[in-house]
Amino acid sequence: MNRRTFLAALSAPVVARLASLDAHAGQAALHQRVSAFEPWIEVNIASLRANAAEMARVAGRPVLAVVKNNGYGLGVVNAAQALEPSPAVHGFAVVKLQEARDLRARGIKKPILLMAPIDADDLRDAVSANIMPMVYTPIGDLLDQEAARLGRPIPIHVCVDTGIGRVGVPHRQAAALIRDLAGRKGVAIDGTMMTFTEDLEFDREQRRRFAALTDELKAAGINLGRLHAASTYTLFQHGNETSFDMVRPGMGLLGIYPDARFAALKKLDLKTALAMRVRVAYVKQLAAGESAGYERAYVAKRDTWIATLPVGHADGWPRAAAKGGKVRINGRLYPVIASVSASHTLVEIGDSPDVKAGDVATLFDGQDGSRPEDVAQATGASVYDLTMHLSPLLPRRTV
Ligand SMILES: *Cc1c(COP(=O)(O)O)cnc(C)c1O
Repeated sequence: MNRRTFLAALSAPVVARLASLDAHAGQAALHQRVSAFEPWIEVNIASLRANAAEMARVAGRPVLAVVKNNGYGLGVVNAAQALEPSPAVHGFAVVKLQEARDLRARGIKKPILLMAPIDADDLRDAVSANIMPMVYTPIGDLLDQEAARLGRPIPIHVCVDTGIGRVGVPHRQAAALIRDLAGRKGVAIDGTMMTFTEDLEFDREQRRRFAALTDELKAAGINLGRLHAASTYTLFQHGNETSFDMVRPGMGLLGIYPDARFAALKKLDLKTALAMRVRVAYVKQLAAGESAGYERAYVAKRDTWIATLPVGHADGWPRAAAKGGKVRINGRLYPVIASVSASHTLVEIGDSPDVKAGDVATLFDGQDGSRPEDVAQATGASVYDLTMHLSPLLPRRTV
């Protein structure tokens, strides 16, 4: 064996593993056998479907399910496969081309909207895979070229900026762009969209701007496709005057309230569809004065039992969980102590060792006191940080 073949033999298994990570990121299929001590994410399919149906019921409109950023932690393919059979779900929206392609590669048939900036290469790849681009710049010529190549018009969604100032054609210039796009043979406007700032008062002004624009264009005989704007937040904050032709929630599908005040409103009855668990790795007693964690972050005031959980911030469990977070083991909530390191979390069990190695610790689930909203509150982070930062490498189990 010469040096080159030797090196190739050395690196081959690594390359093969990385490739499969890429293809199945976030999917349990990646793992041949999951170690008993790996933290895992639970995806509740029935809850996801119930939440989609509930949002469609309250809105009186179908749902364009936002499953961006690895499906808010569920795994983008898990989320879409769970939701696709639901009659409440019109289609899916993501913000990364790769996620949209993964959905098509894994058999998702419903419409997919890519809410992302794209260049000419991205556009070609997207439309070839029957993925709809979001359009807000004058790319009509490019769309016509792609339509000529495929031999059919390209369905698009036009994004209008009514005041959020991120992307979208500014609402005052939108009529000219939409007239240009609508007049082309190669373009089929399948939808027209905007995003609310989620400022209660200004949302109303944004709605007026969008309605004025779209009413004017419709009166001129221009087909705008389905109008959509409302996120989960909007569904709670406003009536259906903001729902237009379909609603576009993400977090609500997981049964997680984007704002802690919303649960009490009882406007939508949502079921938590996401849980995170890990098995206790080790239990031991500290004598008063003994410490735990880097920099001795915790010092036992009296003799106490502590449990070690093999989960940390590298898995997406927030560092700040050590500042008031709680973990449920055998039905009881125990405080997180010391500091959360990359792969370890410590909890204080108290006087008697009610917890043993191998017991399941729930980092969050749908129970009061250990809901994702409780973790967010304890850590000062939002539920978006918590769910979207969950490591795609963790195995997902559907229940
Ligand atoms: C993320 C996102 C949504 C969904 O928002 P939620 O608060 O998760 O319901 C809707 N529209 C756009 C453009 C988004 O980026």
